[in-house]
Amino acid sequence: VAKRSGNQAVVYDAATDESSQQSLSLLGELRRAVDRNELKLYVQPKLSLLTGEVTGLEALVRWVHPQRGMIFPDQFIAFSEKTGFIRVITLWMLDRAAALCSALAAEGMYPKLSVNISARDLMDQDLAAKFSEIMFRHKVSAASFCLEITESAIMDDPVRAQNTLESLHALGAELSIDDFGTGYSSLAYLKQLPVDELKIDKSFVMNMEHDANDAKIVRSTVDLGRNLGLRVVAEGIESDKAWELLAQMGCHSGQGYLMSRPIPANEFSAWTRRWTV
Ligand code: C2E
Ligand code: CA
Ligand code: CA
Ligand code: CA
Repeated sequence: VAKRSGNQAVVYDAATDESSQQSLSLLGELRRAVDRNELKLYVQPKLSLLTGEVTGLEALVRWVHPQRGMIFPDQFIAFSEKTGFIRVITLWMLDRAAALCSALAAEGMYPKLSVNISARDLMDQDLAAKFSEIMFRHKVSAASFCLEITESAIMDDPVRAQNTLESLHALGAELSIDDFGTGYSSLAYLKQLPVDELKIDKSFVMNMEHDANDAKIVRSTVDLGRNLGLRVVAEGIESDKAWELLAQMGCHSGQGYLMSRPIPANEFSAWTRRWTV
């Protein structure tokens, strides 16, 4: 059935109607999830490949649903980005990461907290002010944070993205380019934006000891990052061999299942004790 609203033809059918019902109920469930504390902060350690010391933690969201159990971000992040709900999740993650940062400082630990920021967040002209308010409320420094942004999030609206990123950087937060090499992008933003870190996507790292082309891409990316004076981080380190190769190439740090899967934030202290002894 085709309906007309104004001068636009809107096509309805049972299938789209059902899926819009479903997405309305997912949005409702997500709102309730935040109110009922079903979202959980997980963290994955980032280590120096030279010394093995923990240098940072990446904050990763999990949804522990009362009926459906653990729900991974691939089930709700893209949807949240599409609907704009991601803004709520991002502020929640920043708040929880700041609380963790403050709790760890009380134990004498100062890892840098990395938080994922989406294209939608960068379009919010008040993001820097909101970020600053969260840091102030938890009495932590903006310099304790690194914000991970994908290339495609920047390319969506490069001018607005640049404004927001410059404001965040001026507050002292570091900026990281996530999933480097997977997006449609121009290298120009690497010199235009105040970037501190380049993160090599796990799709290149996971098989680098078996795939010569992956290894070449990783090596070139490490060189590119180092030549631009950036810190280079590899994600998806799953074997001793990968760690060894990356360290030889001059990659500064890394994260991956070899060292730790993402763990609940409150288990991090115990993990460090196991890791260092
Ligand atoms: P990402 O930002 O690239 O995060 C890294 C992902 O790789 C995480 O998946 C992590 O668990 C996984 N990973 C780390 N090391 C290894 C490894 O050695 N092997 C393998 N196979 N995987 C590894 P996760 O937690 O499922 O998150 C998936 C994606 O969801 C993230 O990719 C990120 O794009 C998004 N995401 C997660 N949390 C948030 C969030 O709070 N906000 C936003 N905007 N996005 C998030
Ligand atoms: Ca990330
Ligand atoms: Ca990544
Ligand atoms: Ca990724």
